[in-house]
Amino acid sequence: MSLSSGSSEHVLAAEGLKVVYETSFGVVDAASDVTFQVKKGEFFGLAGESGCGKSTVAYSLVKEVPPPGRIVGGKIYINGRDVVPLSEDEMRKIRWKEISVIPQAAMNALNPVYTVGDQIAEAILAHEEMSKDDALARAEELLDLVGVGRQRVRSYPHELSGGQRQRVMIAMALALNPPIVIADEPTTALDVVVQAQILNLFKELRSKFNMSLIFITHDLTTMFELVDRIAVMYAGKIVEIGPTDKIVDDPLHPYTELLVRAVPRIGVGEKGRFEYIPGSPPNLLEPPPGCRFHPRCPKRFEPCDKEEPRMVEVERGRFVACHLIAGRTS
Ligand code: SF4
Repeated sequence: MSLSSGSSEHVLAAEGLKVVYETSFGVVDAASDVTFQVKKGEFFGLAGESGCGKSTVAYSLVKEVPPPGRIVGGKIYINGRDVVPLSEDEMRKIRWKEISVIPQAAMNALNPVYTVGDQIAEAILAHEEMSKDDALARAEELLDLVGVGRQRVRSYPHELSGGQRQRVMIAMALALNPPIVIADEPTTALDVVVQAQILNLFKELRSKFNMSLIFITHDLTTMFELVDRIAVMYAGKIVEIGPTDKIVDDPLHPYTELLVRAVPRIGVGEKGRFEYIPGSPPNLLEPPPGCRFHPRCPKRFEPCDKEEPRMVEVERGRFVACHLIAGRTS
């Protein structure tokens, strides 16, 4: 398998994606040369610390990067079609039907003055010709599907718990049966019990619909439970991609290794202590030269602060961008 170019087996692919934020302080290089593919039915995770570019990539995939963000390079294939050149009108036809997003903060995403049923129905009616009654009936089915229950169709968001509101957002994302769903930190604001329920809901939905999920979180514990493959991002770049079990059991990039060791339940911390990653991610107004991780990397050596490591395939489906690894495979 190569890391370049989307193909017919992939429902979604980013190729050399570059996104910047043009601010009054300068240009923030938020996502750079981001390349990955997602197969039909696959659950794919984007991992990394806060601010590493995960959400920027997620919203780029539907061309909804918040201003002053802008896609300035690369391609995004949705069901084989590059959507980067498409107009906003053309994208509106694709969003919800071919790809939808479950946003981070359900309370902010829901309108407090409309019932949840009306909001789901409105999303359906914006894309499909049907009566309001039929759309509300579909909203009831969706509320049953996500475990909120159809009796809540006339509830207002404030009458629901945080977990129920998140389920309503999932129902909305599924309203038009899109084959690809992006979930941006969908469990972050929830307590651990509700988090587990939402993860189970995703697993149930997967078995029912065979949808592809792009799951974004800084919480690796939840990610390890849910996804088939993980792309690890650091400072706007993907540094490692591989099957979840390989990333957990044998992380190759030094950043991935530190990230995995910082997860309490993995239990690889010395004598059960939590480990942490020293330092903080760089300011992307002026990313470090060479490997962007080099100022924090315990394994840095001669070329790391000058030469950017290229992504290499170390084994089938396993990609790493690190001079240590490149040296091993060359
Ligand atoms: Fe560390 Fe060098 Fe690898 Fe970057 S390229 S992760 S600095 S060893």
